[in-house]
Formats: sequence, C-alpha cells, structure tokens
Amino acid sequence: MKKTGYLIDMDGVIYRENHLIAGAVDFVAALLSTSTPFLFLTNNSAPTPEDLAVRLKHLGIGGLSPRHFYTSAMNTADFLSETHPNCTVFVLGEGGLQTALHQHHIANDAIRPDYVVVGEGSASMERLAKAHECIERGARLLATNPDNWCPVSSEKTRPGAGATAAFLEASSGRRAYYLGKPNGYMFQRARRRLSEPGGRAPDQVVMIGDTMETDIRGAVESGLLGYLVLSGSTQLEHVGDYVYQPTRIMDTVGDLTSEVLGIADPGSPSASDQPHPPSHGGRHGSRHQTDFLAFHKPRPRPAMTK
Ligand SMILES: [Mg+2]
Repeated sequence: MKKTGYLIDMDGVIYRENHLIAGAVDFVAALLSTSTPFLFLTNNSAPTPEDLAVRLKHLGIGGLSPRHFYTSAMNTADFLSETHPNCTVFVLGEGGLQTALHQHHIANDAIRPDYVVVGEGSASMERLAKAHECIERGARLLATNPDNWCPVSSEKTRPGAGATAAFLEASSGRRAYYLGKPNGYMFQRARRRLSEPGGRAPDQVVMIGDTMETDIRGAVESGLLGYLVLSGSTQLEHVGDYVYQPTRIMDTVGDLTSEVLGIADPGSPSASDQPHPPSHGGRHGSRHQTDFLAFHKPRPRPAMTK
C-alpha cells in the first residue's frame, strides 16, 4: 500500500480566526493515530513551532509537538545555512525568525551583513532605514515569504513580509528573493522532514491548502499532489481562473479523515472530487509578491471576506 505524507496549511484549513474548521480535530487525530507523516506548513514567520503547538492546543487540537510544524522562518534559516554557511544578517522580524536563525548559528550584523532578512512584524522607519543602508552597502535582500497582506479576521488584514520587502525593493532598487510558499525550496525541505527521523520516505506527498497562489502553485511546481479546500480564501468559482489546478477539491480537510484511517476506498471519488467547470468571472489580485500578473489586477477584498 502506498504510504502518503501530508503537508498542511493552517489558516483556512485547520482554523479561521479563532475557530476550528469542521472536521479538523478528527483529521489530525486520524493522522496521529495512524502514525501518518505530516507537517503543518505556514508562511507566517512570526511564531516559533512551540508557539504554534500551544496555539492549536488552545483551539482544541492536542497531541502535537514542535516537530509537527515548519514555518517560512525555519525555511529561511535552512536556506541560509545550506547556501551560505557563516553568513551574517540584519533582521526585520519577530521571535520565530530570530529563533530559527539563532538555532542555525547565523549571526546578527547591523554594519555590513551579507543579507537583510525580512519577515512578519512591524518595522520602525529607523529599522527600515538601517536595512536600506545595509542593502546599499551590498547586502542581499531576502524575504521569508511573499505575502503582501494576511487575514486577521473576516473584516481585517495586516501587512505581510512581502509588503515590507517591497518597500525596500522600491527604496534600494534591488529585488528581493522570496522564500516560503510557493517557493519550491519550502516544499523540498518540508518533504525531506517528512521522512525524518530515519523512517521510510512517503511514496507520495499531498499538500493541503486553501490558497491557489501559494499552496496549490507550490505543490504543482514541486511535483506534489495539491488538494484545495474550500474552507478558506478560495471560492470554487474562481479556481478555473488559474493556469495551475489542484489535484482534488474538497469542502474541508475533514473529507480526508476516512481515507487516512483506511476505511474508505481512495479510488472512489466523492462529490467534491468531481471536475468543476472553470470560471472566469472572479477577481483576484496581488496578495503575494510572487503572484502572476501581480500589478495588473485590482487589490482584492480581504481573503476571509465572503
Ligand atoms: Mg491558508
């Protein structure tokens, strides 16, 4: 039997704001009880894996440990330690990013760093000016993720790391490199973690997400199966607007529980597996710096707004 591993987005898949999505608890319980390899994958570089485990525990999902989480901050630290050992950084970001860099022994340098690393969080004009100066002195610009904005509630968004990086791109004239989803390096490193420690690597890896531009695009480009859930930022009628398409579409992550438990035939499609006709009436926009046609469409309404 094929062994399947799961990479799972969080916001819009497991919870929305402070509410669990129907079926999420049973789905995670099924993963744990069957020792199915899985990782929660998030572009939010502010929290540490410990923070995320506590957050999910408070929401009602227990049994998780920090090893079940992989953030764009951890991806950034992996990238730097692999491609440029002993480099130095000037960081605009919060605890999750600082901790990940520290764990890889990457030193802070506010004078002549190799990189300016931009993550989530508020950056003062003084810090932005310092980062700008570092780039002018030769530092390369790296962002933990391309998200221009992120949902806070059904009616509110906040600026993301992509917006801060775009500020520095404009001021310095240098382009940033964006890690996190949909960058293939995020998926490649996450996939590698699914087979640690010393276990058999999954025969196939499924990415479950609610955002076409990051979750599904990244899955397609990294050779993974991409399952879209409609419990978050994407509405069914907009799926057809994208060049890349999900492998499956389902209402919530709970639709996969019986499959994980092995009590359903994975070959028999459910209603949500039926092909959906493409639609061209929807509007999207530059939610991420890496979106196609990012500057040719109007800014969308907040993702969580119906
Ligand atoms: Mg999401």
